[in-house]
Amino acid sequence: KANVPSDIEVSRSQRPKNVKVIGQELGITERELELYGAHKAKVDLALLNRLAYRKNGKYVLVAGITPTPLGEGKSTTTMGLAQALGAHLGKIAFANVRQPSQGPTFGIKGGAAGGGYSQVIPMDEFNMHLTGDIHAVTAANNLLAAAIDTRMFHEATQKDRALFNRLVPKRNGVRQFAPIMFRRLKKLGIDKTNPDDLTDEEVNRFARLDIDPETITWKRVLDVNDRHLRGVTIGQAPTEKGFSRYTGFDISVASEVMAVLALSNDLADMRERLGRMVVGSSKSGEPVTCDDLGVGGALTALMKDAIKPNLMQTLEGTPVFVHAGPFANISIGASSVIADKLALKLAGTEEDEDPREKAGYVVTEAGFDFTMGGERFFNIKCRSSGLVPDCVVIVATVRALKVHGGGPSITPGAALPEVYRTENVEILRAGCVNLAKHIQNAKQYGVPVVVAINKFTTDTEAEVQCIKEEALKAGAEDAIPANHWAEGGKGATDLAQGVIRACNKPKGEFKYLYNVDMTIEEKLEAITKNMYGAAGIELSDLAKVQVETYKKQGFGNLPICIAKTQYSLSHDPELKGAPTGFTVPIRDIKLSPGAGYLYAKAADIQTIPGLPTAPGYLNVDVNRETGEIEGLF
Ligand code: ADP
Repeated sequence: KANVPSDIEVSRSQRPKNVKVIGQELGITERELELYGAHKAKVDLALLNRLAYRKNGKYVLVAGITPTPLGEGKSTTTMGLAQALGAHLGKIAFANVRQPSQGPTFGIKGGAAGGGYSQVIPMDEFNMHLTGDIHAVTAANNLLAAAIDTRMFHEATQKDRALFNRLVPKRNGVRQFAPIMFRRLKKLGIDKTNPDDLTDEEVNRFARLDIDPETITWKRVLDVNDRHLRGVTIGQAPTEKGFSRYTGFDISVASEVMAVLALSNDLADMRERLGRMVVGSSKSGEPVTCDDLGVGGALTALMKDAIKPNLMQTLEGTPVFVHAGPFANISIGASSVIADKLALKLAGTEEDEDPREKAGYVVTEAGFDFTMGGERFFNIKCRSSGLVPDCVVIVATVRALKVHGGGPSITPGAALPEVYRTENVEILRAGCVNLAKHIQNAKQYGVPVVVAINKFTTDTEAEVQCIKEEALKAGAEDAIPANHWAEGGKGATDLAQGVIRACNKPKGEFKYLYNVDMTIEEKLEAITKNMYGAAGIELSDLAKVQVETYKKQGFGNLPICIAKTQYSLSHDPELKGAPTGFTVPIRDIKLSPGAGYLYAKAADIQTIPGLPTAPGYLNVDVNRETGEIEGLF
């Protein structure tokens, strides 16, 4: 049995370098590094311009097989692989990961820093607050929510010209539009700059958004697993004069603002995306946007520091970018485009350098299994960034593959059944159909696939051999056991060598799974048939109406993010292995034009989770002498 202390003990045992040193090692200048204490810094986006001439480093995507509820070690492998490349093979190597939400940190799953000897440190700073980006998302989201209800209140309680005059007040004796209002004037086709020139009809069209309260999709958010906020009635104080409305909260990371942060290419792009976000429809069926409410500029102001990636380090002192954390259940579940772009330049090569020798590596992670995180990474994130990975690493474990081969289900907290603690090649081999399907899925994009066998102390030689055989048969370049959880980067040097070989192979032809100009139904079919193995889809009556609405409103050509269980290739968590012939029910389709996708719910997904009876917070406290946080996991 490996003698590995708890994740927080391992994290504590290593004294982190000052983040200034990490910055210096990467050639980031002092002016480009904004320090947040000794172990975290934001990196200024001006660096992207300064290094624009460089060739990008190599881009590696870590994804997973269909997991068990315990997690199969994607984050741990992301860290271990970056440590191997950076601290053992002499490359510049970044691990780019999401910022964890406080929901899971104090709820069931625990933090997301990796584990064992492959982690981001200090893990307590990583898991809570970081540099405040999630708080900024919460603030921006809720400012927009307040703008919606307040605007409806003012429209209902003030008449025509009076409403307009309050909305466009006199400044220094002259009535003038706020600069942001020209966006709305342009949209309405009103080509006038002087508010006094507007006709009565134009005044009303401009000032009345006339939002239909039934259509409002924008909710308030909070970064707490507070299930009692799923449904709330707002506006119950007498001051709101009966203008109350039933609505609800989502967890902050489910906000479209978080998806915008993850997918923006630069500040200007973020500004346009925030302005495009749709909050609902007017009574005549027109989409109402954040810029119609005039709040896109203020949201950008709240987000202007959040857009800068956060530099931290692994246990072995190699660089980590922690940036954005869109909810994997309903959003892309990947870290930011900007962090990847910055890291690829910092790990990049000069004109006269041979990338085969000199290129650095950016290892990034896609949440959940490949059919979800991986598919969205390619079809949404890569489409937004224009980047293409040089290699996909699929993390597999003996225990998860045994579940797919017919082993009993695994419950967190309960003892692992016998089959997961002793050798059983037969069940394991049967379960490798799941790994094979993920390999074939990843290969559809034309990118080489390496399987990382994340080793547990109970795995036997015969079992590792079995996974290797099945992975190669399914078309993987390589399948390599890695022991980075117990040994740190040293345990993943073989894996790192395999990744380097795969990245240096002549490039195949990269392909998206679908073209955005296909119909919404065709795109849903492309994903469910090719990635999940489905026979087809079935749209609910609600979804059919939504499809028609989005087509009419001009949003039919967005890529699609399907929300489903991560515990099966299908929409049904009970179907293990590599099921076929099932029909995926599409219950509800939501619009996120700022993020730049539609998301379709193929399951009942909670957008604000609840806390279990024994939540993670029961163990958390602060050491009175040292001030250190205890009990995070
Ligand atoms: P994922 O990112 O796939 O959800 P994580 O990397 O967060 O998974 O790992 C889940 C948990 O499993 C963590 O607590 C981690 O410490 C533990 N873990 C990961 N790999 C191993 C391993 N090889 N042996 C034992 N525990 C592991």
